[in-house]
Amino acid sequence: MNGVRIQIKGIVQGVGFRPWVYRVAKETGVSGRIRNDSRGVTIDAFGCHGRIEVFLNRLESSGPPAAVVRELVWSEIEHEDLSGFEITTSLENAERNVSIPPDLATCDDCVDDIADPDNRRFRYPFTNCTNCGPRFTIASDIPYDRIVTTMAPFEMCEDCVREYRDVEDRRFHAQPNACSVCGPSLDVTDAAGNVIEGDPIGLASRALVEGEIVAVKGLGGFHLSCDATNPAAVRRLRSRKRRDEKPFAIMVPDVGDADSVAMISERERKMLVSVERPIVLVRRKPETCLASEVAPNNKLVGVMLPYTPLHHLLLDAVGRPLVMTSGNLSEEPIAQSNEEALTRLGGIADLFLIHDREIETRCDDSVVRVLGTGPVILRRSRGWVPRPVALREPVSRSILGCGAHLKNTFAIASGSDVTLGPHIGDLENIETLGSYEASIERMLKFLEIKPELVAHDLHPQYLSTRYAETRSEPRIAVQHHHAHVAGVMAEHWIDGPAIGLAWDGTGYGTDGEAWGGEVLLAEYHRFDRIATLRPIPLAGGDTAIRQVWRVALAVLEDAFEGFPPIDRLPLFAAISENEIDVVRLMLTKRFNTVNAHGAGRYFDAFGAMFLGRGHSSFEGQVSMEWNLVADDTVDVPYSFDIDTSQSPWEIDLRPCIRDAVDDFMCGTVVSVIAARFHETMVRAGVATIEMAQARWGLLPVVYSGGCFQNDLLVERLVRHLSPRFVVRGNRQVPPGDGGIAFGQVVVADAIARRT
Ligand code: ZN
Ligand code: ZN
Ligand code: FE
Repeated sequence: MNGVRIQIKGIVQGVGFRPWVYRVAKETGVSGRIRNDSRGVTIDAFGCHGRIEVFLNRLESSGPPAAVVRELVWSEIEHEDLSGFEITTSLENAERNVSIPPDLATCDDCVDDIADPDNRRFRYPFTNCTNCGPRFTIASDIPYDRIVTTMAPFEMCEDCVREYRDVEDRRFHAQPNACSVCGPSLDVTDAAGNVIEGDPIGLASRALVEGEIVAVKGLGGFHLSCDATNPAAVRRLRSRKRRDEKPFAIMVPDVGDADSVAMISERERKMLVSVERPIVLVRRKPETCLASEVAPNNKLVGVMLPYTPLHHLLLDAVGRPLVMTSGNLSEEPIAQSNEEALTRLGGIADLFLIHDREIETRCDDSVVRVLGTGPVILRRSRGWVPRPVALREPVSRSILGCGAHLKNTFAIASGSDVTLGPHIGDLENIETLGSYEASIERMLKFLEIKPELVAHDLHPQYLSTRYAETRSEPRIAVQHHHAHVAGVMAEHWIDGPAIGLAWDGTGYGTDGEAWGGEVLLAEYHRFDRIATLRPIPLAGGDTAIRQVWRVALAVLEDAFEGFPPIDRLPLFAAISENEIDVVRLMLTKRFNTVNAHGAGRYFDAFGAMFLGRGHSSFEGQVSMEWNLVADDTVDVPYSFDIDTSQSPWEIDLRPCIRDAVDDFMCGTVVSVIAARFHETMVRAGVATIEMAQARWGLLPVVYSGGCFQNDLLVERLVRHLSPRFVVRGNRQVPPGDGGIAFGQVVVADAIARRT
């Protein structure tokens, strides 16, 4: 064999793949050429004496850090006598299809460059190369080329041009290539926008160390930053940002610092240092330098490492963990331009560390947690967007999925790829809706796709549904939990039918009720609702989602048949008698109540009852505390019933509620009650699945929904079900509502194929 054509598909463009192949070819003594094409790269390689085999082997076993090889196929071709190896860039048409890569964390070589006083990029905050740097967030059009990025206004100096053109250089074709002579630069301003003279990093780090709040312009938006070891500073940030208790993420200088504040497993460490550099949710250590205000009442902490040279310089200068939270006010979109930051964050930050490279597209930090058998992306944004998720079969037409309401993202399916948009946030205000619409348009432009079909949630009031209705394409409404379940099936290339466990806070059901404790027999185009959790009447509707004591009262009222043991639970001592009476009246008269099946509501109810937490300051707060308090060595369940006389079957947790109250009366510690509750939920799910398997035959099991961000639930569910059944959960796509859009497009495709 002395000539092969190799075709590689995957993330191999804009990530330094061609120069890497070039170097491998040189090292292995292979001649030939490489070029980008519409699906990836094509290599013609020529050589003898087994060199081609060695070359192929290298390509198959390694690659540049940000590349993902999905498919490598080769065939023999006629030998050509070439003297060397070259990178062909002449195929203009093929280059048109070069997709935009995600933003890449600063590589080790660039970190070395900025730390080296003899390097011409010493302390230069915008250093990057073909292996790292901004991509998606600076691109305004395709093909991904400097002239259509926000680097366009900066003309490369001679030195930078030389690197850019030198195929042997790490900066060969690095579109954002820059140095202090020609590239963007930093500034520090006060809250009024007046530039302050001096070294920007020095000024900002001094302010942080002194306890001030600094707005830092990052890759996909502004962060609000303060000293994470300074309780007063963190408190001030909380009050100015109007954020009571929702945890703040922190950035630490290096992995060693991460170890000193949290327990970090090998898999978590891998995620921390990955090229995507997400926030990794980890268990914090009890006694650390971190102010408790960073994540009040929370055993987890979101940790990330620096991912731009600016972060490296700043974190080195302060030498301590910094709070790095999205630069926004409560639920608004993250601030993007300097002007916007000054207007919107002027009342929060004391100082602004800004620069003159525009952010073209907002992209929040991604969030990852290691759950059960591996890492799960809880928020898929910077570092992953716009890398597509691969389907087994191409879709029949291009589809836009509009997503849900909370933690919205959208998805665009075309061919075998589904591209999820960046995290948008809760679609609750005009600012967020504007950002959502703009983000969809931009992504459609990048992908050169005109959707032929629009998929949206069944909920008529969601802003995402309303948005879908303004579009001219045909529409398909997809039930929320069907989308959760079908999404996992599609992620794992499961044909269906499958048994889907969809447990979350809420989602609109086909009967108009709030579903969320569902067991579905699901195919892509349809589903049957096998079982659901016994509904809880929510007094005052959504009010009960924050005032979780109302949910606790409702389950007690139900379990004790009108005689809830209110005076025996300290929770109710803190609530006025009048309020309790009003809610009880609402519950018994079914006045202004809505029925909710959400598993999340049971977590809320139990957390409220036994932790004495009557109020949630953000959705899911009490549920999360109830999860984290559980003693994971206890695995004795409480009782439960499954009523199969009705359709869907009803999973009845009233026995569990009575058992737990008894346990509490006997003085059992809350950590044990929480563990037993978790075990009950798992066993109830498992029992239902076993009954379903007995009736419908052996089927794969998938689980999804916001409840499966809970490590205990995931681990125990998987332990009880495998290896008897194939069990799969979300990995690349968030289990929460950030994953809904992905499920919507696969369901809509299946429905459309049949009509
Ligand atoms: Zn680099
Ligand atoms: Zn330069
Ligand atoms: Fe959901």
